[in-house]
Amino acid sequence: MINADPSINIAVPKLPQEIEGLKEISLNLWWTWNARGRNLFKLLNPYLWKETRHNPIAMLKSMSQKELNEASKNELFMREYEYVYKTFTTYMNDKNVYADEPLPIAYFCAEYGLHHSVPIYSGGLGFLAGDILKESSDMGLPMVGIGFMYPQGYVRQVIGTDGWQNGAQEPIEKDVAPIERVLDKDEQHFTIKVPFIDPPIFASVWKINVGRVTLYLLDTDIEKNDPWDRQISSRLYTSDINQRLRQQIVLGIGGYRVLEELGIEYSILHLNEGHPAFALFERVRSFMQDGGLSLDDAVAKVKQTSVFTTHTPLQAATDVYNFEMITAAFKDYWEALGMSKEEFMSFGINPDKQSEGFNMTVFGLNMCDNRNAVSKKHCEVATNIWSHVLPASQENKPAMDYVTNGVHVPTWLGDELSDIIDTSVGESWKLLQDSEACWSFVNEISNKKLWKISQNAKVLMVNYIRDRVRVKYAKEGIDPVVAMAEGVLLDPDVLTIGFARRMAEYKRPDLILTDIERLEKIITNRDRPVQIIFAGKAHPADIAGKKILQHIFKTAQESRFGGRIAFVEDYGENVAKYLLHGVDVWLNNPQIPMEACGTSGMKASLNGTLHLSSLDGWWPEGYNGENGWAFGDEPSNTKEDSEALYDLIEKEIVPLYYDTDNSGVPTQWIEKMKAAMTSVTPAFSARRMMKDYLSKFYIPISMDLQKK
Ligand SMILES: *Cc1c(COP(=O)(O)O)cnc(C)c1O
Repeated sequence: MINADPSINIAVPKLPQEIEGLKEISLNLWWTWNARGRNLFKLLNPYLWKETRHNPIAMLKSMSQKELNEASKNELFMREYEYVYKTFTTYMNDKNVYADEPLPIAYFCAEYGLHHSVPIYSGGLGFLAGDILKESSDMGLPMVGIGFMYPQGYVRQVIGTDGWQNGAQEPIEKDVAPIERVLDKDEQHFTIKVPFIDPPIFASVWKINVGRVTLYLLDTDIEKNDPWDRQISSRLYTSDINQRLRQQIVLGIGGYRVLEELGIEYSILHLNEGHPAFALFERVRSFMQDGGLSLDDAVAKVKQTSVFTTHTPLQAATDVYNFEMITAAFKDYWEALGMSKEEFMSFGINPDKQSEGFNMTVFGLNMCDNRNAVSKKHCEVATNIWSHVLPASQENKPAMDYVTNGVHVPTWLGDELSDIIDTSVGESWKLLQDSEACWSFVNEISNKKLWKISQNAKVLMVNYIRDRVRVKYAKEGIDPVVAMAEGVLLDPDVLTIGFARRMAEYKRPDLILTDIERLEKIITNRDRPVQIIFAGKAHPADIAGKKILQHIFKTAQESRFGGRIAFVEDYGENVAKYLLHGVDVWLNNPQIPMEACGTSGMKASLNGTLHLSSLDGWWPEGYNGENGWAFGDEPSNTKEDSEALYDLIEKEIVPLYYDTDNSGVPTQWIEKMKAAMTSVTPAFSARRMMKDYLSKFYIPISMDLQKK
């Protein structure tokens, strides 16, 4: 029996018996999506809670014994503790939430965005995976996650005076993060050897409790490995192609091995994007060697029981390894499978580019009969670009289906709104969250109150941004112009547009800067000013993205904008929450059809932050004429799109926002906020998404398997 020993993480000080349950609570990310859970830690020591950036393990470890003893005698704290502990244990022991239980699902992804105390994510793909685990936990689905520990994973964004993005590596301190070592029967850190790779690579295994779902992480940064191999999992999406291949072998094949060695049984394999697709080969091998199937039967069964989710709208954006690299890594492997080299390679060859090598997306599409894109529009695009790879659609089953992404509502809904729904609908709202009726309570909130909630969030955001700059100024003595460009002059009374996402060319972060004179007029209008807040990282290797960022940062420094353009450093999940709740308008203007889905606009809308977006990704499904704004042509034209954007801001958005009744409330604006909250939240909740995965894939696969 292999189990994890949580005590390794909390050595000093000792938790008094009365509050021993804090150990369990802090080692389960459940608290991250439960306001009372978060609040419990804050109550314990508000200063340290902030100082440790909301990491309960780091906080408990740095508290004194005396302080903990005092907490266990504090009536107010103990009342809250008992409530939270009871809620938590009830949640953990609640066995049957989702009635149509499918067979167990193993979910593989290269990154997970769960909370900033576990920085193993880069962006959208990770947050989707994180939300899927959280929702599966809430629904009681039998899921287990596999991913990577990136010891050097997190690159903090630091922007120089010249606006150039520099990275600062921020290693994870594994012993002060809410993660645990998995131990083997000798109480040693459980380690696997990745099968068939020569020279061998080892990976040790960590686990993160995501409510009732367990996420296992592979870590190659261990002494047993050569220095070169220790680096395999050090960084997310390395651009070193050899290292990238080894990373994907460890994730796919090593990850599958972890499940087998831990004795975790599962019947459905779900691959989120091509990075972990090698797991499919390991699955074939296991069906042959342990299940006694022939190669053909094993391949057929893998196809039948595996789900592949693609996220790219471009063939060029997929991982391709040349045949020499694949041969060097896999020559023993295909022999073990009883395959010829040609047969093995054929799974990953793109018929359009046969000599290019082994394509991970083509491989996923070939080896999984259950394929999905991540929005309706993306499904058309993906079906199109892969038409030469996809088989013919069957009557009830298209070759490429879609499950539009959704977001985990308890994670992304602001605290004040959560409180309102808890009291007006009751705590069982989570069971009903994908129905429109659940959200009709929004229409009962008075305009005045909703306005106050949104203005409060804006004040919190502005304070947060200023505080960060103040700390940076105090520490580094930055140039005051830089401090201004980072947001110290932001004004909570001004209509605020937010643009926060990866600084990549296709997302056109600087579209709104196209006609700078026109923008200046919009921003500096004396009676009805506008401010814009930008945030987002460029990929470290993306020079074009860094140049766009620099352009924005320099524009923010220009005195003519009076500090009403700001760039907030180091976009991550925490900054995102402040911006999503705090700005009035969430801008999204990718080149159509490059955004497969996008999820931040959903998070904004459910908080009443209005989405202003080109009709790409999820927005053609989400936009109903009342709940935000749409613009932009396909194919995209920068000049025309920017003009359409300015027109909307000048003619619709600014007047609507500043047209207030005699108590200062913009009635029509609030109508739009309500329309956004009531229409977007149920339809783009992670609950709806998981129900789609269940009905399109997990349940049919389970029924098929149980028939046999
Ligand atoms: C939701 C989220 C994303 C993904 O959103 P997009 O709309 O795809 O950009 C990226 N980063 C953070 C921090 C998020 O919360």
